[in-house]
Amino acid sequence: MSLLAVEDVTLKFGGLTAVNRLSFAVDAGEIFAIVGPNGAGKSTVFNLISRFYTPQSGALRFDGHDLLAVRSSDVAALGVARTFQNIELFDHATVLQNLLVGRHRHRRSNILSEILFTPAVRRQEVENRERVEEIIDFLDLQPYRDKMIAGLPYGVRKVVEMARALATDPRLLLLDEPASGLSVEETSDLRWWIEDIRRQMGITVLMVEHDMGLVGQVCDRVLAMADGAQLALGTPAEVQAHPAVIEAYLGH
Ligand code: ADP
Ligand code: MG
Repeated sequence: MSLLAVEDVTLKFGGLTAVNRLSFAVDAGEIFAIVGPNGAGKSTVFNLISRFYTPQSGALRFDGHDLLAVRSSDVAALGVARTFQNIELFDHATVLQNLLVGRHRHRRSNILSEILFTPAVRRQEVENRERVEEIIDFLDLQPYRDKMIAGLPYGVRKVVEMARALATDPRLLLLDEPASGLSVEETSDLRWWIEDIRRQMGITVLMVEHDMGLVGQVCDRVLAMADGAQLALGTPAEVQAHPAVIEAYLGH
């Protein structure tokens, strides 16, 4: 069974059909990319999976759960984490603080035990702290650990956003254009991190990405979209050679 299934999903904004009868499935352990021209509906697919939007028709399933029965605020608890095309972090907090916020869903204690600061709460705090430090090490963020987000270079902020998503211990990580705005060196680091996120952390990755070099290097399968619908689905080589994909890119 696939980890994520998008089944015949349609989402309209007024007269505009942003996602048009789209179906695809991502298997556990895959690195899967969605590609396509600007306005194809890629970020909207992420917003549907995150339950920011509700489709007019179709179904969304994650690990056996009907996502349409889940509120946006509960999607993270199921094991889905994401980054945004425009970075969304707390600018006036440090890297460490942003990551600790990412751990929030792991606090299972109630308000009273937090006020009393029970041993269970203390244990949870220690565990959160340790996991966040591991992620900081994993993504080479030690030099920035106690720095304010607002003062960090763009490429570092993108890595912090990925770190914050990882801090929720997801099973599915959604990355919206992780390489955009990154230098060649930063994109190369990103490539290894994405592979290690799967290999060492066992996390399935679904990414929207324009850099076809990166997609070809790390992705098992690719969905190409245009005008909200599927153009092609297959290995990176198959999709890049697909006539409909070539035409969509030349036409834009
Ligand atoms: P992509 O990420 O592939 O560049 P998007 O998913 O952001 O494309 O957008 C797909 C289409 O849906 C675009 O035409 C966009 O303008 C439109 N769209 C996206 N979000 C909204 C919204 N909240 N309200 C109205 N139109 C939207
Ligand atoms: Mg987008």
